[in-house]
Amino acid sequence: MVDTNNAEGRKRVLVLGCTGSIGTSTLDIARNEPSYAVCGLTANRNAEKLALLGAEFSCPTLLASAVARDGLKDAFASFIAETRPDIIVNGIAGSAGLVPSIAALEAGVDLVLANKESVVMAGPLIFALAKKNNCRILPVDSEHSAIFTLLRQCGRENVDRLVITASGGPFRTWEKERIKNATLADALKHPTWSMGTKITVDSASLGNKGLEVIEACRLFGFSADDVQVVVHPQSIVHSLVRTRDGAIYAQMSEPDMKHPIISALSYPAVRENFMKPFDLTDFVCGETVRTLTFEKPRTDAFPLLSIAFGAARTDGFAPIAFNAANEVAAGAFIEGKIGFGRIPEIVGATLDAENWAGDVRDLKDVFESDRRAREIAAGFISGS
Ligand code: NDP
Repeated sequence: MVDTNNAEGRKRVLVLGCTGSIGTSTLDIARNEPSYAVCGLTANRNAEKLALLGAEFSCPTLLASAVARDGLKDAFASFIAETRPDIIVNGIAGSAGLVPSIAALEAGVDLVLANKESVVMAGPLIFALAKKNNCRILPVDSEHSAIFTLLRQCGRENVDRLVITASGGPFRTWEKERIKNATLADALKHPTWSMGTKITVDSASLGNKGLEVIEACRLFGFSADDVQVVVHPQSIVHSLVRTRDGAIYAQMSEPDMKHPIISALSYPAVRENFMKPFDLTDFVCGETVRTLTFEKPRTDAFPLLSIAFGAARTDGFAPIAFNAANEVAAGAFIEGKIGFGRIPEIVGATLDAENWAGDVRDLKDVFESDRRAREIAAGFISGS
């Protein structure tokens, strides 16, 4: 039986960032699940692919790079009004995802949120907006999707710790000095997930895990001291929660982003779908039984993780500064301007450069501190 969210009996889905990794997974779901109708698509620069997808799904498209920067919010708001979605998937990479998230929530539409930067930069502001307009924010990061479900199952009041798993990335076993000199090609060899360039580099530095720690604190109302990161190279356990009686509950599936996206799209229902159900005996490959392993993160070799915990503890403007400095530093590494080892140095130096504590009152505050942190980080890069 399909959802009856609209006259045609199909849930209308607007996909922001349809040409990227999350967008592609979302469109795969739409191709396979007749209960969803893609009603609109956006991209930034890839006009050719956007046009092809627009033709395939017979829906309007929006190319963000064709819109003047200060007109973006209005452009997204008009596009939402034109396409009349029941739900919006935000798969835009980086801080550029924040304005579209706001446009979605201002329109009162449920938001399937892969763009973690929206929460890291402006969590309290977007939660207040969602509450005011009576719509939901449904997390898609696999870890946060797992925790979201586990908190529902266990009862938020019974949980005293969140345990976020990390694959450890391609440098999990590398010596500290070798990591500092890693190339872009090394960083892009993610062992378990296939994702966009920026998040893959962040996964190699554990900067992505740092963003996820901040995201988890904000989404679920936990302090940084009640969040733990555990390295789990197989990426089968997506996260865990510990209840007050000391037991730990885990959520497992194959590492495929279609699982958390389906879970968010169908929320609050939990339904059969086209994906292969998870089966522990699938681990048996010939004679070899695959095992699940867990280890402590090597914070000495991956300093960005500790820097992110520090930013989560400071709260206020520090998460904004962490995200902005990391975007600048990771971007400079991708462009070949700095070595891999400089990424945590630049982020750490940016956070140390100012007092980032304080109350973030509105979006103006968010954008001003984002701009300031980028300026500081860029200064460290040009001085290096
Ligand atoms: P990709 O780089 O693969 O795709 C990014 C998408 O965003 C593209 O469609 C791109 O359009 C669009 N885009 C880029 N810049 C802008 C902009 N300035 N304005 C509007 N649209 C823009 O990223 P991912 O799919 O990997 O990641 C997307 C988000 O989801 C990130 O926040 C990431 O952290 C999060 N996420 C991703 C996961 C994954 O498995 N990939 C897992 C969990 C979270 P174009 O192609 O035209 O440039």
